[in-house]
Amino acid sequence: MRKQTTCYSCDKPIEPEWLPEGEFIVCDECSSDTDEKTVEKLQEQLNTAKKALTEIASTRQGIWRGGTLVGYEATEDAQFAIDALAAIGGDDE
Ligand SMILES: [Zn+2]
Repeated sequence: MRKQTTCYSCDKPIEPEWLPEGEFIVCDECSSDTDEKTVEKLQEQLNTAKKALTEIASTRQGIWRGGTLVGYEATEDAQFAIDALAAIGGDDE
Protein backbone atom coordinates (compact mmCIF):
# COMPACT_ATOMS: atom_id res chain seq x y z
CA MET A 1 0.00 0.00 0.00
CA ARG A 2 1.38 3.33 -1.08
CA LYS A 3 1.32 6.11 1.44
CA GLN A 4 -0.36 9.26 0.16
CA THR A 5 1.13 12.52 1.23
CA THR A 6 -0.76 15.75 0.86
CA CYS A 7 0.14 19.38 1.28
CA TYR A 8 -0.37 20.47 4.86
CA SER A 9 -1.78 23.75 3.66
CA CYS A 10 -3.93 23.04 0.59
CA ASP A 11 -4.34 19.21 0.66
CA LYS A 12 -2.85 18.88 -2.80
CA PRO A 13 -1.24 15.45 -3.20
CA ILE A 14 2.56 15.45 -3.25
CA GLU A 15 4.95 12.79 -4.54
CA PRO A 16 6.13 11.22 -1.30
CA GLU A 17 9.48 9.66 -2.34
CA TRP A 18 11.74 12.59 -1.57
CA LEU A 19 9.83 14.07 1.33
CA PRO A 20 11.25 14.30 4.83
CA GLU A 21 9.34 12.56 7.60
CA GLY A 22 7.89 14.17 10.69
CA GLU A 23 7.61 17.63 9.21
CA PHE A 24 4.75 19.74 8.01
CA ILE A 25 4.93 19.28 4.30
CA VAL A 26 3.62 21.86 1.89
CA CYS A 27 3.71 21.93 -1.89
CA ASP A 28 5.98 24.37 -3.73
CA GLU A 29 3.12 26.75 -4.31
CA CYS A 30 2.17 26.98 -0.63
CA SER A 31 5.81 27.06 0.39
CA SER A 32 6.47 30.27 -1.53
CA ASP A 33 3.15 31.69 -0.33
CA THR A 34 4.13 31.02 3.24
CA ASP A 35 7.51 32.68 2.78
CA GLU A 36 5.90 35.80 1.40
CA LYS A 37 3.37 35.97 4.22
CA THR A 38 6.07 35.38 6.81
CA VAL A 39 8.20 38.20 5.42
CA GLU A 40 5.17 40.46 5.26
CA LYS A 41 4.23 39.69 8.85
CA LEU A 42 7.78 40.19 10.12
CA GLN A 43 7.98 43.50 8.26
CA GLU A 44 4.73 44.57 9.90
CA GLN A 45 5.99 43.59 13.34
CA LEU A 46 9.25 45.42 12.74
CA ASN A 47 7.42 48.55 11.68
CA THR A 48 5.25 48.39 14.80
CA ALA A 49 8.33 48.03 16.98
CA LYS A 50 10.09 50.88 15.19
CA LYS A 51 7.07 53.12 15.63
CA ALA A 52 6.94 52.44 19.37
CA LEU A 53 10.68 52.91 19.74
CA THR A 54 10.58 56.15 17.77
CA GLU A 55 7.85 57.39 20.09
CA ILE A 56 9.88 56.51 23.18
CA ALA A 57 13.08 57.89 21.64
CA SER A 58 11.47 61.30 21.39
CA THR A 59 10.72 61.62 25.11
CA ARG A 60 12.71 64.40 26.74
CA GLN A 61 13.24 65.53 30.27
CA GLY A 62 14.10 69.00 31.47
CA ILE A 63 17.62 69.77 32.65
CA TRP A 64 17.43 71.87 35.78
CA ARG A 65 20.28 73.91 37.21
CA GLY A 66 19.60 75.59 40.53
CA GLY A 67 15.84 75.71 39.96
CA THR A 68 16.17 77.00 36.39
CA LEU A 69 15.26 74.99 33.31
CA VAL A 70 18.34 75.14 31.10
CA GLY A 71 17.40 72.66 28.41
CA TYR A 72 16.13 69.24 27.51
CA GLU A 73 17.80 65.88 27.14
CA ALA A 74 16.75 62.39 26.16
CA THR A 75 15.40 60.38 29.07
CA GLU A 76 17.09 57.13 30.05
CA ASP A 77 14.26 55.24 28.32
CA ALA A 78 14.69 57.39 25.24
CA GLN A 79 18.38 56.55 25.14
CA PHE A 80 17.56 52.83 25.22
CA ALA A 81 15.10 53.33 22.39
CA ILE A 82 17.60 55.39 20.36
CA ASP A 83 20.22 52.66 20.77
CA ALA A 84 17.68 49.99 19.79
CA LEU A 85 16.65 51.95 16.69
CA ALA A 86 20.27 52.32 15.69
CA ALA A 87 20.76 48.56 16.14
CA ILE A 88 17.78 47.59 13.94
CA GLY A 89 18.52 50.20 11.30
CA GLY A 90 16.02 52.88 12.28
CA ASP A 91 14.14 54.64 9.52
CA ASP A 92 15.10 54.33 5.89
CA GLU A 93 14.95 58.08 5.42
ZN1 LIG B 1 -0.19 23.40 -1.07
